[in-house]
Amino acid sequence: MEERQLAKLEPIGPLYEMAQHQFLKAAELIGLEENIKRFLLWPQRILTVHFPVMMDDGEVHVFVGYRVQHSTARGPAKGGIRYHPNVNLDEVASLAFWMTWKCAVMNLPFGGGKGGVKVDPKKLSERELERLSRRFFSEIQIMIGPNRDIPAPDVNTNSQIMAWFMDTYSMNVGATSLGVVTGKPVDLGGSEGRNEATGRGVAIVANEACDVLGMDIKGATVAVQGFGNVGSFAAKIISEEYGAKVVAVSDISGGIYNPEGLDIEDLIRYRDENGGIIKGYPKAQPITNEELLTLDVDILIPAALENAINAEIAKDVKAKIIVEGANGPTTEEAEKILLEKGVFIIPDILANAGGVTVSYFEWVQDLQSFFWDIDDIRKKLKKMMVREFGEVYKTKKKYDTDMRTAAYIVAIERVATAVRRRGYYPM
Ligand code: NAD
Repeated sequence: MEERQLAKLEPIGPLYEMAQHQFLKAAELIGLEENIKRFLLWPQRILTVHFPVMMDDGEVHVFVGYRVQHSTARGPAKGGIRYHPNVNLDEVASLAFWMTWKCAVMNLPFGGGKGGVKVDPKKLSERELERLSRRFFSEIQIMIGPNRDIPAPDVNTNSQIMAWFMDTYSMNVGATSLGVVTGKPVDLGGSEGRNEATGRGVAIVANEACDVLGMDIKGATVAVQGFGNVGSFAAKIISEEYGAKVVAVSDISGGIYNPEGLDIEDLIRYRDENGGIIKGYPKAQPITNEELLTLDVDILIPAALENAINAEIAKDVKAKIIVEGANGPTTEEAEKILLEKGVFIIPDILANAGGVTVSYFEWVQDLQSFFWDIDDIRKKLKKMMVREFGEVYKTKKKYDTDMRTAAYIVAIERVATAVRRRGYYPM
């Protein structure tokens, strides 16, 4: 039967198109029905807002911001809000799309969302930042709510901004609503363990990977690119709690290497006293970021930025396991080379999902106004990460594919099940 051409959907942008390809690769492998494929290829809602902010000098500037909900099939949308001069709709929509699969692969009752404001927050005073945050949140409030869409911090946004968001929403609706955003300060409805959650998740899945590959994580050598929130907690937990030996770490200022292993606690102290960078750490020798990525180690943890491992670097990577702490650290070309070499890659949507999982715990605690202690949080996080790593690994075996495709398959099947059960309203 000839297909009726009823609608032509305009492409959103090149990044979003790449994200659609990743989805289609997995969708085709499992023979996902055409109707669901068509539906899930596009974001459900896109809101663009232009809004005024009064600067300290009395001038009004107009900013542009976005909130995108890719899918709410499994629950309210979940995803961060970033402030950055390069924010654009293509990026926000792609990040919302990835959040759908990240939440689904962890089996969280959330869909995917993301937001952003095109602004360089370093150029704003504290009061200007607060005014911008409050006005932006008011503008997108028609899409937001504890049962609709629950934002969180992302690049250049933090717990103070989340507190302003929560207060703004609460003032507008006339009732305190802690569950409207996550990543809040612990003394204002935030959760214990959120800061360390992504790094902890990275260490947990690295341990699982060692298990299935028959490697001992005790004494395994580790290199970590990026020593911020994700990298430093991953390094600390994998060494202190799992007995691995972190031999190299890097950040924006370059890398350091000590074949005997680094004392991470000591290095964190050094970083905090040294303007936030590790350059000059006396108990190690300096190396470049490229050298770090190609060191002869068992486990490599890219936890800095996207596209860190390109085809050129991939050829020289010697690690047996890569745990993607960052979002999108491996280019498509690099991944092909690494898979051919037999490198075991734990994909970002699984490896760095510890953060969104503890955000989910925060939301649950806010809704019940009953807060858990750190042991509870850690136990629950470990249980969920181990379980979903297992699901993804089982799927990898079943389809004889790589871990990234397997993670997408697990996620797509879960979202597709929700779509099938909910149907296409109105029928
Ligand atoms: P962060 O800002 O705390 O740390 C980033 C680190 O990367 C810093 O140490 C910085 O110096 C380093 N870095 C920057 N450019 C670099 C370069 N060219 N070479 C080497 N190092 C460089 O950020 P973060 O929260 O740790 O996030 C890191 C990555 O993890 C990002 O891709 C982020 O999207 C992702 N992620 C973070 C979370 C979370 O909960 N924080 C959750 C999921 C994914």
